[in-house]
Amino acid sequence: DNHRGAEAIAEAEQWTAHNYHPLPVVIADAEGAWVTDVDGKRYLDCLAAYSALNFGHRHPLLVAAARGQLDRVTLTSRAFLHDQFGPFCRELAELCAESQSGAAGEARGTAEMVLPMNTGAEAIETAIKVARAWGYRIKGVPDGQATIVVAAGNFHGRTTTIVSFSTDPEARAGFGPYTPGFRIVPYGDLEAMAEAIDDTTVAVLIEPIQGEAGVYVPPDEYLVGVRSLCTTHNVLFVADEIQSGLGRTGDTFAVQHAGVVPDLYVLGKALGGGIVPVSAVVGRRDVLGVLRPGEHGSTFGGNPMACAVGRAVVGLLRTGEYQERAKRLGAVLHERLGSLVGHGIVAVRGRGLWAGVDIDPTLMTGRQATERLLARGVLAKDTHGSTIRLAPPLVITSDEVHWAVDQLSEVVAGD
Ligand code: PLP
Repeated sequence: DNHRGAEAIAEAEQWTAHNYHPLPVVIADAEGAWVTDVDGKRYLDCLAAYSALNFGHRHPLLVAAARGQLDRVTLTSRAFLHDQFGPFCRELAELCAESQSGAAGEARGTAEMVLPMNTGAEAIETAIKVARAWGYRIKGVPDGQATIVVAAGNFHGRTTTIVSFSTDPEARAGFGPYTPGFRIVPYGDLEAMAEAIDDTTVAVLIEPIQGEAGVYVPPDEYLVGVRSLCTTHNVLFVADEIQSGLGRTGDTFAVQHAGVVPDLYVLGKALGGGIVPVSAVVGRRDVLGVLRPGEHGSTFGGNPMACAVGRAVVGLLRTGEYQERAKRLGAVLHERLGSLVGHGIVAVRGRGLWAGVDIDPTLMTGRQATERLLARGVLAKDTHGSTIRLAPPLVITSDEVHWAVDQLSEVVAGD
């Protein structure tokens, strides 16, 4: 009997804008990799809130950090400092700096300052403003002429400026007029990127792995080439690690696989531990240092709750345990998914505990696949036609990975 779920779905349908098409499940509580709906049915969460729940639902150390902070101070605004602010920024910068230790020498020491915001889109907007300000004040680009090179198929958020350089008609069409100053080149194409860069270019903004597009992993040489183009032309390499970063791929950051270091990291999602929205831009002093008081900000950015939880997140990542789990269990996930190719699945992409799975479009749509998975107790989300992505919390066990893939194999077998 699932009448409570049905009622809750009808209520949401009536009273909310239809900017989402959620799967018909109404979650009431959750722990680790599992959620329970209002009718008591359990599901294995294989989406993890688009990687915002890398540490699982209600990780005890993250909940403790949030609870502890609730009893002290929750909000000050940036008009004042609070005692979690400096430590959070320092610890996050140190986490980024530590991740660079294996990288090529030229780009070391790029994590010296942090600018905290709330959502991913806000952090991207911040990086765009910082790159433009750096271009005008340091690089010497004539005022108002800065250009930023981005990749086709990108997903960086939903603000009017960000959708201006989206190539997805669903995200962009009908929301103009559009913000100028962006040049779109094919993802993975270094020649096109080289051609798009000129004296007005202040930044290249890319996802090291394109998530929403369907988990497209470029060859390492691509990121190495982007780094080298940026260095040669005095352009900032801005890595959107909002979905790919913080353990998901088996490293702290996806750029590490290619051994490159960006000039700016854009972080979000898992930085808030699935408890509070926390995002940040991390970079060098000569870049983030260009902003002057009053030029940028946010009432809630860097608030005490965000910083307390963010510090606990950084603490978990500094153990290396979650990166190791993502690497080890990601190998299990990809081995199992790989064996389904040719058996109802056309292609699988990804790295670590992150996969884009193309279902044979003659069998079913991605949406139908996720509905059938839901009926079997697995939460996943479709994207672009027949693709579904899997990104379970990094606390998932090996047995649970096997069970989830068993469910998927039975769904595509039509059982
Ligand atoms: N950048 C990437 C790579 C993302 O995957 C997302 C969200 O899916 C965003 C930016 C936007 O983040 P938010 O939804 O928190 O604004």
